[in-house]
Amino acid sequence: MKSDELNYSKLVQSQLDYFNSNITKDTDFRIRQLKHLKSVLKSNEKLLDEAIYKDFKKSSFENYVTELSLIYHEINLAMGDLKEWSTKKKVATNMANMPGNSYILPEPLGVTLTIGAWNYPYQLSLAPVVAALAAGNTAIIKPSELALNTSRAMAAVINDNFESQYLHVVEGGVEETTALLNEKFNKIFYTGSGNVGRIIMGAAAKHLTPVTLELGGKSPAFVFNDAKLKIAAKRLVWAKFLNGGQTCVAPDYLLVEKGMKEKLIEEMQKQILKYHGDNPMQSEGFVRIINPRHFDRIMKFIDIEKVVIGGESNKVELYIAPTVMDNVSFDDAVMQEEIFGPVLPIIEFDDLDEAIKMVKDRDKPLALYVFTSSNKNTEKIFHEISFGGGAVNDAVMHLANANLPFGGVGESGMGSYHGKAGFDTFSHFKSIYSHSTMVEPNLKYTPYTPNKLKIMRLMLE
Ligand code: NAD
Repeated sequence: MKSDELNYSKLVQSQLDYFNSNITKDTDFRIRQLKHLKSVLKSNEKLLDEAIYKDFKKSSFENYVTELSLIYHEINLAMGDLKEWSTKKKVATNMANMPGNSYILPEPLGVTLTIGAWNYPYQLSLAPVVAALAAGNTAIIKPSELALNTSRAMAAVINDNFESQYLHVVEGGVEETTALLNEKFNKIFYTGSGNVGRIIMGAAAKHLTPVTLELGGKSPAFVFNDAKLKIAAKRLVWAKFLNGGQTCVAPDYLLVEKGMKEKLIEEMQKQILKYHGDNPMQSEGFVRIINPRHFDRIMKFIDIEKVVIGGESNKVELYIAPTVMDNVSFDDAVMQEEIFGPVLPIIEFDDLDEAIKMVKDRDKPLALYVFTSSNKNTEKIFHEISFGGGAVNDAVMHLANANLPFGGVGESGMGSYHGKAGFDTFSHFKSIYSHSTMVEPNLKYTPYTPNKLKIMRLMLE
């Protein structure tokens, strides 16, 4: 343990020395490194595919669509725009500071640590790192040990192709992360559960290190009678059962307006059959649960009396069928914590105000979805409920748009990233005022006179 800590100290110190050499501040250098990262990932796609399949049977199609493409897109965007993002931005100067000019100067923070989660192991570790590098920082990545093969693959691919003083993957679990967190970083970016988020923030507090916390929670989807039923069912089934339900922004539960529940369930059943067949265990598009601990945790949520679709499981295969539960109440076990698995409870509502209150009585969700044809429903819900981000007549897809900052609020997280928001998250913005030396009125200097105060009142308010 001691020697690991020493190695981490050395690693962090070497990154700090490298950062202080100012090399990473050069925008052409940053673009070259991002280009290199993209080409290294592209040329190792097969290895990355094989590793993620070993971890939870995720297909290469899904690995591309939900992991690698997002990283490539972030890289392309940053390579195209980082020069513009990094330039100083002029702002207006107030009257009391005239004559002079004012501007904001973005600068990198320094040595950054990104701690990833296992459910989208590549994307959640590398997309923040793209932002960190684009902003001119150095980066250490600690992927989740639960997705062991992808963690190894990332370490092999990155550590073989980058100098550790600039970009390095450290593998390990709680012990290694705890040791790493003793070091002083200039920024920590964490994705995972709120419980560990608290540990990360506590460790960061010792060094006054700023943190971004990308956490989870129970994300509701409202479905109204005026929703386009077939499209709603199709999109909900995709979003919920993608990655075996192990998606932080998956619709955790449905709040369905009274009058259309049976039709919705029927339509969801058809969609599941269409996309995963009558035995989803054989479907190439159906991902497994990450480990036996999570398998047991999810199985406890399934009340067989309430299952209307699915319910089957196979522990050896770590398989849980796409499952829908009806007549669920907020008191049921499945409603006590984030499901993070392929189980979708349905709660029916009659009174929208009551349904909104039930959501607001709980932690602020990471995502919220509304399926409706009415702007009135959408506007009311968006006005009254606080949540990270969301979509109208869709779910999950908002995070594919890099122009939308992605992050939570309250228990679902703090800070955001993707696109320019990621660059900002890993930057400090220096505020500079440059004063002309042509004149120097005596207004602010003693002796203070009633006349000076009169002028000050005019200028300062
Ligand atoms: P986790 O909190 O168990 O683990 C995440 C990381 O923290 C791992 O790298 C792990 O090694 C490290 N870690 C675990 N215990 C630690 C400890 N005691 N001290 C220091 N480090 C420790 O989270 P998870 O199970 O990987 O993820 C599940 C949660 O994450 C869900 O709530 C989900 O919604 C959320 N999540 C959020 C997002 C997002 O983008 N907002 C994305 C994915 C997952």
